[in-house]
Formats: sequence, C-alpha cells, structure tokens
Amino acid sequence: MYPDISDRIEARQGDITLLAVDAIVNAANRTLLGGGGVDGAIHRAAGPELLAECRTLGGCPTGEARLTRGYRLPARYVIHTVGPVYRGHPRDSRLLAGCYDGSLQLAVDHGLHSIAFPAISCGVYGYPIRDACRIAVDTTLAFVERQRSIEKVIFMLFSPGNLAVYQDYLARRGVG
Ligand code: ADP
Repeated sequence: MYPDISDRIEARQGDITLLAVDAIVNAANRTLLGGGGVDGAIHRAAGPELLAECRTLGGCPTGEARLTRGYRLPARYVIHTVGPVYRGHPRDSRLLAGCYDGSLQLAVDHGLHSIAFPAISCGVYGYPIRDACRIAVDTTLAFVERQRSIEKVIFMLFSPGNLAVYQDYLARRGVG
C-alpha cells in the first residue's frame, strides 16, 4: 500500500536526546518553560540557551507546535508540541493528531527531512499507549504519503513495552 514507507518510518527504543536528526519533538506543556519527563531530559541535554529561546515564544496552545534551535543537542532543532491531558473525550484524539500534523508541517516549512517523536501525552498526561500509537502512526503515515520531503520519521520509545506496541501497529499498517 505504501511502497517505500518502510524505509521512511521506524520505531526504536532509547533516549530521544541522543538522536542526530534534523529535529526532535518535545512533549512540552503550554508554558514551554520546561517540565519533567522527556521535556526535562531535552532541556538538560540542550543547555540553558534552549529555555532562553523558549521564553521568547510566549507559550503554545494544546495541539500546536513551535520550533527552536537544538543548542547542545545532536539534533539541529527542537519542535515543542503540547499534547492533551487524557480525559477520554473525542477532542483528545483531535488534539493529539494536531501535535503530529503540526510538528511535521513545521519540519516541512523549515526544510527539514528527518524528525523523531516521543510518545506524546503517554507519560504524566495519561494517554493510553495503544490509542496514542494508532493516532501517531495513522497521522504520520497520511502526512508523509502526501509530503515526500520528509525522508525519515523515528518513533523513539523509552520502554520496551511501548516499542512493542508501535512495532505491532506498524506491522498491521504494512510498515516494517
Ligand atoms: P507527557 O506530559 O506528554 O505525557 P512525558 O514526558 O511525561 O510527556 O512522557 C511522554 C513519553 O516520553 C513517555 O512515554 C515517557 O516514558 C517518554 N520519555 C521520557 N523521557 C524520554 C527520553 N529521554 N526519550 C524518549 N522518550 C522519553
């Protein structure tokens, strides 16, 4: 169904701050002023210049994304997106899909070709991993199918359990 998609999308396990891609995506909060989880790890690895640039942005609404430089990270840029706190409403999935679409669109707008996502909203924001994985993969597949300039998307999962969920679903969608 997607001829070359298996070369362009993959799931891996590990620390997203170590990836030398054009952009890593941060699961931020609306202030963009740092937090725990992957947000804290990205700010620690990037250094204080990242927080200084984030302060100039004035926050970000849920479901949208903003771009900064990567500073001391191996990634050139950080795309900060704000996932929904899971409440079990239909709106949650629209907002989460917006995080993936908005991040991918920012990458295209800035001429970036490779991007890595964490499992947005699946930590303290409580999104069930299977539902979130389906939204992440479906939204990304639809985007990269119509936008050929995105050459590589990595779903970077912190736990082996989350990686298995992504690998199963990617296989069901005919990827990998
Ligand atoms: P949210 O507030 O959007 O739920 P969290 O940071 O709490 O964001 O969690 C999002 C996901 O990121 C979780 O699955 C968590 O295990 C994972 N995570 C935490 N640190 C890292 C990291 N360094 N690299 C990749 N994923 C990470």
